[in-house]
Amino acid sequence: MGVLVNLLVWALITLSPCVINYWLAERKSRNPVLWAILGFPFTFLSSILLLFLPPGGYGVPTLEEYLQKHPNCETGSGIKCANCGSKSIRSLGVTGANDARRRHSCNHCGVVLYKTRF
Ligand SMILES: [Zn+2]
Repeated sequence: MGVLVNLLVWALITLSPCVINYWLAERKSRNPVLWAILGFPFTFLSSILLLFLPPGGYGVPTLEEYLQKHPNCETGSGIKCANCGSKSIRSLGVTGANDARRRHSCNHCGVVLYKTRF
């Protein structure tokens, strides 16, 4: 009984950074499988690092991919959101205002639409 409890506690402590990293990486547009694997040797250190990293471009389509998927979003005078139809698009630099790598999201519904210069 004691061995089983110890094993469960060990598994919980060892695997929880993996689960946390997967969850956090998905929300920060970073590779969730890679971060879950990094959670095993580096435990919560990798979770803390991931927490302070800026959002990445993993899983975010490029503008070309976005327009291929949503051809009606090309309006002639700009791009519109496929989720709500708003033409108010916010462009944020990944690490700051001057970063060339941009993530474009809808000002109305907040959905991340596409990335440019990644
Ligand atoms: Zn929208």
